[in-house]
Amino acid sequence: MGRPSQGRLDLCALRHNAGVARQLAPHSKIMAVVKANAYGHGAVTIANALQAQVDALAVACIEEAMELRYAGISAPILLLEGCFEEQEVAQAAQLDLWITIENERQLRWLEEARLPAPISCWLKVDTGMSRMGVMPHLAPAYFQRLQATHNTRGEVVTYTHFASADDTRSQQTAQQIATFDALPFAGPRSAANSAGVLAWPNSHYDWVRPGYMLYGDSPMLESHDNARTLEPVMTLASAVISLRDVAAGQAVGYGGTWVAQRASRIATVAVGYGDGYPHKAPNGTPVLVNGQRASLAGRVSMDMITVDVTDLSFIEQGSEVVLWGAGLPLAEVAHCANTIGYELITRMPARTPRVVVRD
Ligand SMILES: *Cc1c(COP(=O)(O)O)cnc(C)c1O
Repeated sequence: MGRPSQGRLDLCALRHNAGVARQLAPHSKIMAVVKANAYGHGAVTIANALQAQVDALAVACIEEAMELRYAGISAPILLLEGCFEEQEVAQAAQLDLWITIENERQLRWLEEARLPAPISCWLKVDTGMSRMGVMPHLAPAYFQRLQATHNTRGEVVTYTHFASADDTRSQQTAQQIATFDALPFAGPRSAANSAGVLAWPNSHYDWVRPGYMLYGDSPMLESHDNARTLEPVMTLASAVISLRDVAAGQAVGYGGTWVAQRASRIATVAVGYGDGYPHKAPNGTPVLVNGQRASLAGRVSMDMITVDVTDLSFIEQGSEVVLWGAGLPLAEVAHCANTIGYELITRMPARTPRVVVRD
């Protein structure tokens, strides 16, 4: 079997989570966000598993869309940041992609392009996140120009993105929705990311755009009822490869940052920051060994971690270890490492095999 560290994928969980989004937003179409290699899970695997269940996919750039098209994915695919260069407009039309328009330059490229076929356009409006999108007072003019050009196909969808929907106490989401609702033109609308789907029913409109929740973890800052049934899609798993007993006072790992307070048993596990496990995870970060909670003891190495298993029974070489996923929420580990679950999964390198264990 070789090195035991792997990202185990449960595609039933993926489809279950898409079903949760569908149930929460029953009157909206679903655009599944699969940018950044489907948040590290493998874009082609995820798109293939979801394609029949969702109405469209979304990625960050044309290269990501090409990977999906070349793998035979035929679902509509939206480029969330639109085109970065003029020539990409024709390429996008050729690949039958949908594009975002969010600035004057992109709109002019579209208007002036000679396309093999007209292209579906989503107009992005900045309702308060101040990152992407045209200012609300300019949106009507953009909308009119998009409707006027012969290069646009079908209805123009108007969309926006939330800055703080993960925080149910924040006023910002309600303000953004009010700004969005005040736009003085018609047509389909979209606003909700995962947090919008889960916690802001009046943000669902015609299309929802969940990403993170599909992978089975809650993006909410506090626990939320609607997120309770999400199931983790990826379990980062490995195994114990070495065991030792250390005396009280003995230091473990680089820099000797963990020192045994009592006679202790240390299990070495074949996973490290070279597999996407966060280097910043401190002593005490939870790790499951044979399904029992244990704590990280000592610094994370590139290929290994050390875990205090003194209080666990029946630990041996080959014992299964779970770093996050089934039985250990990604968000909990991310919180320990002072980051977000999005970053942990998105940064998982190709070195760690993604293995479908249930489809
Ligand atoms: C990434 C992204 C999403 C999905 O966000 P999640 O928090 O992962 O659900 C939705 N819309 C846009 C524009 C995005 O960039």
